[in-house]
Amino acid sequence: MKSISKLLVANRGEIALRVMRTAKEMGIKTVAVYSEADRNALHVRYADEAVLLGPPPSNQSYLLADKIIEESLRLGVDAIHPGYGFLSENAEFSRKVREAGILFLGPKPDAISTMGDKLMAKQAVKSYDVPLVPGLDEAIEDVPAAKKLAEEIGYPVLIKAAAGGGGKGMRIVHDTKDFEEQMQLAVSEATSAFGDGSVFVEKYVDSPRHIEIQLIADQHGNVVHLFERECSVQRRHQKVVEEAPSAVLTPETRKAMGEAAVNVAKACNYEGAGTVEFIYDASGAFYFLEMNTRLQVEHPVSELITGVDLVREQIRIAEGHELSFKQEDLQIHGHSIEVRVYAEDPRENFVPDIGNLKVYQRPQGPGIRVDDGLEEGMDVPIYYDPMIAKLIVHAGDREQAMDRMIRAIDEYRIAGVKTTLPFCRFTLEHEAFRSGNFDTHFVQKHYEPQMLDRRDESGEKVAALLGAWLLQNQKESTSQSTAQSSVGNAWKRNRTM
Ligand code: ADP
Repeated sequence: MKSISKLLVANRGEIALRVMRTAKEMGIKTVAVYSEADRNALHVRYADEAVLLGPPPSNQSYLLADKIIEESLRLGVDAIHPGYGFLSENAEFSRKVREAGILFLGPKPDAISTMGDKLMAKQAVKSYDVPLVPGLDEAIEDVPAAKKLAEEIGYPVLIKAAAGGGGKGMRIVHDTKDFEEQMQLAVSEATSAFGDGSVFVEKYVDSPRHIEIQLIADQHGNVVHLFERECSVQRRHQKVVEEAPSAVLTPETRKAMGEAAVNVAKACNYEGAGTVEFIYDASGAFYFLEMNTRLQVEHPVSELITGVDLVREQIRIAEGHELSFKQEDLQIHGHSIEVRVYAEDPRENFVPDIGNLKVYQRPQGPGIRVDDGLEEGMDVPIYYDPMIAKLIVHAGDREQAMDRMIRAIDEYRIAGVKTTLPFCRFTLEHEAFRSGNFDTHFVQKHYEPQMLDRRDESGEKVAALLGAWLLQNQKESTSQSTAQSSVGNAWKRNRTM
């Protein structure tokens, strides 16, 4: 058992801060890393020490595995937390950190590489009683043979790249006459995106919901799950509203899904916090999709319904402790919802809208948690993911949590960039979301940008704040014309928020 006294967080923004906060509570010193774009970032100011890695692009800063390890050794760091994104699912990084004698707050390299390949993952879990989407569990090159299999599976089918990620190399085929062409397209897309053209074929699940199970496993073979999160509201295959528990799982399905997820963890000797993703279909059947071998963006909703601090558990597990609770000690308390506040324009197909946070005031009050990494006056950098914050609420039940989220969104004051907040508010008010009757096609089925075009009270309040900002800026600035025109634009935008 090795106790951690200094922790380096190999990440930036809200997740770096979130990890450091728990470390501080545990009396652990923290080290931040940063790029030139993040010199004044909150995670850098919060840490006890900070190391400049290099220029803004991540391949010259946050992805420099060797440099991060060297600096850790120089500063006497005894553990590294990779956060999510960047190096978090890089098996080589997990291996090198461990070889340097530093604790890695994540799984061993083998678990990362097995679960990072969709076919290897399917093969690993096959003998562990985990339901798989009907279809192939190996790569196929022979087009006529693949076509025959597609007919056996039954249309619609999905052709997927083995090395896939971010929805790339995936093609839906509805009819046998299109199969050949679509398979060729999938192979060439996979080859250019991943340098590996292997594809496989599986049943396309109708009306799919994305439901995932949070897991935590120690080094002594104990694995427990912290129930599910539902993340079906997605745009561009990426999550934007998440909740726990799901509105549709029965206690029996929850139990079966939890057990399947624990089996997935056992199949790869998993250690630390991880998530097993499932597709859940209209009939209530569920199938293993993939495992994310890291702490996820949406982990707070699981923390709020269970009372478990996942980062604290990650630290204790790396130190060699056994889990401090058993499956039967965990219960679901109330309901939690998270919305991701991205600097994106929900009226323009969610394109990033980078800029300065001229007004930034967080909502407050009972049951609200805001995990963010920016303050008023800061720029949302163009180099990284444009997420400004995660707004999370917790309440006694789903109904109250939805109402609380709407109240919190209305209290959030952001000007200078467009955000996903108006879209999230739309979702929270929508009959399909409120009734629980939705799937991953929520955006395609129910959303049109003009639905956001209604004037509301919060728009007026932001306009008033902008007015105050403009007055102050006129006093301070000599280049008023630029300031005025950008504020004018922002004001116009917010009038129709
Ligand atoms: P990636 O690694 O590229 O993100 P995933 O396998 O995680 O690919 O799938 C991404 C999304 O595509 C899922 O969240 C789900 O919405 C959809 N999807 C994946 N497989 C299927 C399937 N067999 N049927 C229907 N939808 C699917």
